[in-house]
Amino acid sequence: MADVAIVGGGPAGLMAAEVLANAGCRVTVYDGMPSPARKLLLAGKSGLNLTHAEPWERFVTRYHPADPALTAALDAFRPDALVAWANDLGAECFVGSSGRVFPKAMKASPLLRAWLKRLADLGVTVKTRHRWTGFTGDGLTFDTPDGPMNIRADAMLFALGGASWPRLGSDAAWVAPFKAIGIDVADLRPANAGFDVAWDEPFVERFAGAPVKSVTATSDAGTTPGELVVSRHGIEGSLVYAHSAALRDRLDRDGTADIVIDLAPGRSAERLARDLARQGAKASFSNRLRKGAGLDGVKAALARLFSTEDERHDPVRLAARLKALPIPLARIRPIEEAISSAGGIRFSDIDARFMLKARPGIFVAGEMLDWEAPTGGYLLTGCFATGRAAANGILDWLERS
Ligand SMILES: Cc1cc2nc3c(=O)[nH]c(=O)nc-3n(C[C@H](O)[C@H](O)[C@H](O)COP(=O)(O)OP(=O)(O)OC[C@H]3O[C@@H](n4cnc5c(N)ncnc54)[C@H](O)[C@@H]3O)c2cc1C
Repeated sequence: MADVAIVGGGPAGLMAAEVLANAGCRVTVYDGMPSPARKLLLAGKSGLNLTHAEPWERFVTRYHPADPALTAALDAFRPDALVAWANDLGAECFVGSSGRVFPKAMKASPLLRAWLKRLADLGVTVKTRHRWTGFTGDGLTFDTPDGPMNIRADAMLFALGGASWPRLGSDAAWVAPFKAIGIDVADLRPANAGFDVAWDEPFVERFAGAPVKSVTATSDAGTTPGELVVSRHGIEGSLVYAHSAALRDRLDRDGTADIVIDLAPGRSAERLARDLARQGAKASFSNRLRKGAGLDGVKAALARLFSTEDERHDPVRLAARLKALPIPLARIRPIEEAISSAGGIRFSDIDARFMLKARPGIFVAGEMLDWEAPTGGYLLTGCFATGRAAANGILDWLERS
């Protein structure tokens, strides 16, 4: 019976443990935290979005870079297979109106509880408070409550996550030891994150926390409908996250980036200009916006902040501005606050089995690999799928060697 060490007990590591234990391996999962999968639990706080029900052809385009190993892993564990797996754990799923798939309980805790029980029944050992600190010869070293410990195994899988929300355990401390053995790690950058905007104080005082509903946003990523939220620092929310990779890359490249908001997506610029022109020239800007464009509250305040005096007095130009209101972004929010991170171990350094080319017998999976995807269940699907693929890679490698 082969001994497999899995370092990192998040969705990727636990999924690999299940596949390997089912195949008859003796599996030990090591995690630095007092309990495993804390990010999965947190993900469930706002509604655990396990995957997405859109057609596979569309689904697979959400992942960047679209490395063949990642695509093959996703193909081998498509969203319907993931849903069947969750159902089998008693976490019956439903498809939300946006196509996002959630367990009916919305939370992660029942699923995780059932999953950990299944793993225990399969003989998987989970060692918590075991923090991996580095490679030694052909083994691994850990800090444990009983002091430092060395282990060896027939195969090892790392699934240590990215760099967002480090207090949940994934603090990217793995980057240095991996770089030290010559592994190419792309810089970890915030993904699915908010942005800082230089709001003026009165605006923040009044509108911090206000949702900006039923708008569209445009960036290099295209135009999408949705909702954003004004925060003290800038903007947050699912619509912003959908554009955050494109906006982050543009900020990195050009030093500036605007997210362009259509405040009145239901009306054409021509109709809006006509409706605005009908308001008396003497009416206040707020009244013209409210009566002519149906905009008030935070939307009207945004229109005032990001339009010029000249535009405000010309119905045609004002209509065009309301249809394409650029909000200038100062910077992306820190990685500690992001939903996920981009960057990680480059696919060029692993083979199709998710094994490090430079270190046979060492495999990697999950968010610590260099891919990113928007919110919508794509992140967890990617972690589950690469966890499975790496586990199957281990089985293949063990058999051949
Ligand atoms: C607020 C929030 C909400 C989210 N909601 C969703 C959602 O609804 N849908 C979705 O698809 N995705 C969501 N995500 C993203 C998703 O949770 C992650 O992409 C996913 O958990 C990554 O899985 P992973 O197994 O690669 O890593 P992680 O879940 O980060 O697990 C890595 C594990 O490794 C352990 N570890 C790290 N370093 C060490 C070390 N040195 N030694 C030992 N152990 C170590 C950690 O303690 C952790 O348990 C959300 C993320 C956040 C922050």
